[in-house]
Amino acid sequence: MRGQQQLLLLRRASLRTSTSTRPRQPLVRRRHPFSTTPPTTTTPSNPAIPPPAAEAPPLPPPLPDVPVVAPPPGSSHLYKAAAVVFGIGTGYAIANVTDQSLGFLWPNPNRDATARGFSTEASVTNWSATHAVEPKKYYEPNDMEELELLVRDAHAKGQRIRPVGTALSPNGLGMDKDGMVCLSHLDKVLEVDTKAQTVTVQAGARVSQVLEALGKHRLTLQNFSSVQEQQLGGWTQVAAHGTGASLPTVEEQIVRMKLVTPASGVIELSETQDPELFSLAKVGLGALGIVSELTLKCIPQHELLEKTYVVNSVKELKKDHHRLLREYRHVRYMWLPHTDSIVVVISNPYQEGVTPLPPSFHTPPTPEATKLAPVRSLLLSHPNCRLSATDAAALGFTELRDALLDIAPLDPRWVGRVNAAEAKYWKASEGYRKGGSTEILGFDCGGQQRVLEVAFPIGRIPEEGGKEGGRMTAGWWGWGWKGKEEAETKDLEFGDRLRRMIREKNLPAPCPIEQRWTASSSAGMSPASSKDREEVFSWVGVIMYLPPGQGEGGREEIEKAFRRYVGEMEPLCEEFGAFPHWAKIEVPGEEGARERLKARLAARYPVAAFNIVRKGFDPKGVLGNEMVERLFAEGGKER
Ligand SMILES: Cc1cc2nc3c(=O)[nH]c(=O)nc-3n(C[C@H](O)[C@H](O)[C@H](O)COP(=O)(O)OP(=O)(O)OC[C@H]3O[C@@H](n4cnc5c(N)ncnc54)[C@H](O)[C@@H]3O)c2cc1C
Repeated sequence: MRGQQQLLLLRRASLRTSTSTRPRQPLVRRRHPFSTTPPTTTTPSNPAIPPPAAEAPPLPPPLPDVPVVAPPPGSSHLYKAAAVVFGIGTGYAIANVTDQSLGFLWPNPNRDATARGFSTEASVTNWSATHAVEPKKYYEPNDMEELELLVRDAHAKGQRIRPVGTALSPNGLGMDKDGMVCLSHLDKVLEVDTKAQTVTVQAGARVSQVLEALGKHRLTLQNFSSVQEQQLGGWTQVAAHGTGASLPTVEEQIVRMKLVTPASGVIELSETQDPELFSLAKVGLGALGIVSELTLKCIPQHELLEKTYVVNSVKELKKDHHRLLREYRHVRYMWLPHTDSIVVVISNPYQEGVTPLPPSFHTPPTPEATKLAPVRSLLLSHPNCRLSATDAAALGFTELRDALLDIAPLDPRWVGRVNAAEAKYWKASEGYRKGGSTEILGFDCGGQQRVLEVAFPIGRIPEEGGKEGGRMTAGWWGWGWKGKEEAETKDLEFGDRLRRMIREKNLPAPCPIEQRWTASSSAGMSPASSKDREEVFSWVGVIMYLPPGQGEGGREEIEKAFRRYVGEMEPLCEEFGAFPHWAKIEVPGEEGARERLKARLAARYPVAAFNIVRKGFDPKGVLGNEMVERLFAEGGKER
């Protein structure tokens, strides 16, 4: 590739990770700018619910005469849904049971044309352009009334309306080829209650918007993911997470939620209103209803003091590991494959004039050019590098990584050298920084990529000092007590064994292997779900980049190598009881592997309850998609 062309691609790719240049509109409104294939259709500039239907569509057929299993008055939505599924299993009946006016099932001809207006030209591509779809119908309701009408109408006709947020999920979880609905116009921050420290938002609001609104009241959310462009609906429905052993997955911030269901209309859920259903619907993967409104807990706005440093042995890391998880609000490790380095990033709230600053805080930071020198010189030293020194000087860290990997993404020796240069970059980046939590907690995830992230329980973090958490051990010296600080470090063992496996199998694994932690969640479908509220979960993510210079063939080879990487990791995941992030799980194509995954999911999650509620609220499966059906279909029944 010519130098200038390569530079352009790398610079364009980097725009994705810069919040300041990110478009205000959801990604679903346009083709991903870095898609490797040109668009075959164009998205209308204003796809909001055009064009009105020329004539009113025919009414749905009359209701079938079916028996209804009537639940006792005042019974929960969960009970009602279950009763109907077991009784008959039709959506019309559910409408009866839940006291919905049957007339609601028919569209009102006056409102109908607007509410069911849709775009047939939307193309939706996820962030890494690994999943794309051109849905036959793409809806963006303007208000709550239109949304409710759309859902009822879709239910009556059996029309797919898979909810999608910003479509960031690496596995395209929110996509469907027949129909999708996006709440991009339902994005208002409705109320900030400073006394109760809660915020009520429409579910189409993006995390960044909510943080901005909260900032005006000196409030913030307790934790975020590495990017903040998710819609609140999508963010919570997949149990996204940030990091911190005391901070659960994000759906735990929900105090109240409104769900628009195809067969039971709008329902409100909270700890006191249908708590069982609430715990299930908080992480519903978009399959139990369309989340239209959420009330979330907030916390006071604060600054964080962050420290970054590198350790070069697991033994060294282990000495401090539990103390870090106990004492720091946010802890993140980056294991660098094919090296011995582990980057540690820790932060705690900082209060001006109260929190002491370490003397090294005042040491002038290493200039960026010095930090990047090993990475740049490796790039420029390669005979296939087409960039000039001036071109290379214009690139930031993750762009340089993309340029380096582009040279030979699947050569383990080359990838190992790139990783070693990255280790030097991190060593030179050691030090402190302080800033608002919104700014400190986000991080640059690099270019287009394939990812898998898994979560597994690590038990409780042992307390400092006492024997709790320790265990008796036997050695040649006899019996002894292995104290708390030496107690099980299952999470470190996972990282260490994964990195060793990469070395043994000679996998071209780039940096980093990202390790984070969360507290447990009360949501049944969260990968961090646990009855023990003090249980901590570790999240480990692996990655392979799809550098911008790779054509279709190159990308396919990387996809294949990534499947091998993930396959080699599988036994470790099974041994540690690790389950994939819902936005990163992929459904295996091979039937045996798919059945094994389904069985594992059914053993870990309340899949039976999930399916009962799903069938109760959405008997025609209008909210689902192929992925949901393939993961949760019972008895091999897939639509
Ligand atoms: C660069 C990058 C960095 C990331 N970093 C992190 C990270 O640090 N931590 C982390 O946990 N994840 C991370 N992710 C994953 C990301 O946070 C999740 O995929 C995210 O929550 C998706 O939000 P979204 O609005 O794009 O939802 P979508 O991808 O559009 O949809 C996700 C799911 O939510 C459902 N859904 C969407 N809106 C609604 C609604 N209103 N009602 C009901 N269901 C709905 C969809 O049907 C689908 O099942 C990252 C992803 C990228 C691309």
